Amino acid sequence: MEPLVRAALAGRTLARKGYGVLLVCGLAVYVVLGGANAELGPGAVAAIVVWALLLGPRVLRKLRETNEATLLLDFEIGALLTVALEAALVRYDGGLSGHLSPALYVLVALVAAFARPLAGLLVVAWLLVLEAGLRLEGEGGTDPSAFATHAGFVAAFALLNLTLLRAEVVRIRATARARVEAQLHRIREDARSYRLLGAGEESDRAEVRADRLARASVEEIHQSVHYALELLRRSLDLHTAVLLWLNDAGTHLRISELSTASNDVQDAPFAAGDGVLGAALAQRARVSLHGLKPTFRVPYYQGPCPVRALAAIPVLDGETLRGVLAIDRLENTAFSPHEEEIGAQAARFCLRAIQNERVFLQLERAKVEQGKLYRAAQALGAALSEEDVVEAGVKAAREIASFDHAAVTVYDDKAKSHEIVAAKSADGTIDDLVGVRFSHNTGLVSMVVQNRCPLPYRGEYESGQKLDKVVLSKRLPWPANPSLLVLPLVIHDRALGTLILGAKRLHAFGDSVRPTLEVLASHLAVSLSNARMVRKLETMATTDGLTGLFNKRAMLDSAAQKIAAAARFGRPLSVLMTDIDHFKKVNDTHGHDIGDVVIRGLADILKRQKRTTDIVARFGGEEFVALCEQTDEKGAMLLAERIREELAKTSFRTPQGILSVTCSIGIATFPEAGSDWETLFKGADEALYVSKRSGRNRCTAWRPVRKKQLLSS
Ligand code: GH3
Ligand code: MG
Ligand code: MG
Repeated sequence: MEPLVRAALAGRTLARKGYGVLLVCGLAVYVVLGGANAELGPGAVAAIVVWALLLGPRVLRKLRETNEATLLLDFEIGALLTVALEAALVRYDGGLSGHLSPALYVLVALVAAFARPLAGLLVVAWLLVLEAGLRLEGEGGTDPSAFATHAGFVAAFALLNLTLLRAEVVRIRATARARVEAQLHRIREDARSYRLLGAGEESDRAEVRADRLARASVEEIHQSVHYALELLRRSLDLHTAVLLWLNDAGTHLRISELSTASNDVQDAPFAAGDGVLGAALAQRARVSLHGLKPTFRVPYYQGPCPVRALAAIPVLDGETLRGVLAIDRLENTAFSPHEEEIGAQAARFCLRAIQNERVFLQLERAKVEQGKLYRAAQALGAALSEEDVVEAGVKAAREIASFDHAAVTVYDDKAKSHEIVAAKSADGTIDDLVGVRFSHNTGLVSMVVQNRCPLPYRGEYESGQKLDKVVLSKRLPWPANPSLLVLPLVIHDRALGTLILGAKRLHAFGDSVRPTLEVLASHLAVSLSNARMVRKLETMATTDGLTGLFNKRAMLDSAAQKIAAAARFGRPLSVLMTDIDHFKKVNDTHGHDIGDVVIRGLADILKRQKRTTDIVARFGGEEFVALCEQTDEKGAMLLAERIREELAKTSFRTPQGILSVTCSIGIATFPEAGSDWETLFKGADEALYVSKRSGRNRCTAWRPVRKKQLLSS
């Protein structure tokens, strides 16, 4: 069966992909069998329509998706054009050996240039087969040697085009790419030497953005500097005014910008220690020379020295040497101190232009970071539950830095343990850590919680440091990645937990992202603490402080809904009301505190006896109400008896000796005793009253009062 299915599937795929080729073959057969010379009847029109319908969409696709065009597509287009051209030659040129037959060579050249190489070869083969067919049918002569010559030409044409044209296209592409790369490299280098770019530690996305910004800044700097140099050259009648900038290592100088009347200037890295420029740099002072001979070596002139006077002014950014401004002129007149001072001012202007751009870029970056933090704060503010907060935090971190693993841990100060509340990774290696707890230890997470400082320093392991350092605990391995950052979630000088990020990439958490991540971590801590507060308030609003059971409000909130569900599904439901007997006496004899112990004792019994679906609430004083779903009167009576007996058996220690108490219970069951909460509650209260009146320490189920049949056990 399986081979059949496979064959059917293969057939379907072939039909879907290969119908174009089949139709082209059909058209070819039609042309070979004389379709080209036929009257323009329905057959010919159908062939032309099929041809046009096939070619049109294919050419459009080829034009639109140049990169994704397939071999099949190229072949189909080539084959369709061949069929059309040969049919046209047969019809209008009297066969394949007419005046217009070289058009075939043009077609071959086109296909060889634009189609994929293999598709080009296939089209040439197709053309030859088609031609052979036509010749056999009497078009263009059947002389085999003429066909062979023709075939040889076509093949040679195709091959020549394929190799020469393609080689040329590849060469042009490569040169263009190299030129763009070189320009980009130069701009990046400039940006780095002007301290506009970091050390390439950003994520790919951030790097592209930083590149774009830096490019605009470099452009701006060049314009400002060029303007200053031009002004300087014209006002001091200089031959050249040139700003040379030191590379990062401070070993070489390059021309940053210049204004010159010479066409002999060269730009290559010049050793920073050499000659007159080196002297100005070494002394950090202006050097002025005149009476220069043509043999004097000025690094930025290629040939003999054209100038007779030159001054080199070092450019200092605070204490740091950045470069040197050189001014020179053809006349042999030394630069006056006044002229040198104007030069120094121009140097300061250039430096300021660079500094301004640096500040601008920093502001731009800060704006971007602030935008991210603003969005993160909004997302965190909108999250109310702890889970939502953690999820929003991890999502926001992803906007700031790119990482492969992320987790959030929460520290329990009382239990001295950490819980992993979120763990996400691209490859799923840590996702099952959610919910796992580990005790406070010497791992990074514990250290970060302890010291409230991010670790490891700089967001990565120091070189030589082992990658398998304990992050969570020895038992719970964390992926060994070169980049790791454990951030404390600090609020009011206390670490609630940590945000852990790991990346396979080196320097993923460099200086450009770490401060933003730290701010995000503190936002996360505030939101986490708020979410906890909300949860605490919710619990407080629904819980009774003395017993930890629900309070009356919480019971009323869910009672109506439970009764409605019982009515909808036709299930029984029972309400139990308990009240301790002679409780005033307990308070009077043993004091309120012992009274509270007794109330808590009954609450504990209720908690133990109730099923998970039952709701038990303290309704006030020493009265409790239980709402038991899917419980009829019989089941409720059994439960009530168990509660009553257990309380009667319980001994409470008091300074005055052992104390025992009893309780009375009333039961009302839906639907017999009522179909809404008010009636059921009233029914349970009436039954409780019967228990009290008939001697206490007993359980009573509600009976219609009219019949005066209130049963008691
Ligand atoms: P009966 O058998 O008829 O129920 O007699 P009783 O004395 O228990 O009467 P009742 O149920 O009316 O008594 C309720 C008493 O419970 C009144 C009050 O002093 C006491 N009480 C109410 N709330 C608290 C509480 O939070 N702690 C303590 N210790 N006593 C409370
Ligand atoms: Mg009472
Ligand atoms: Mg009582």
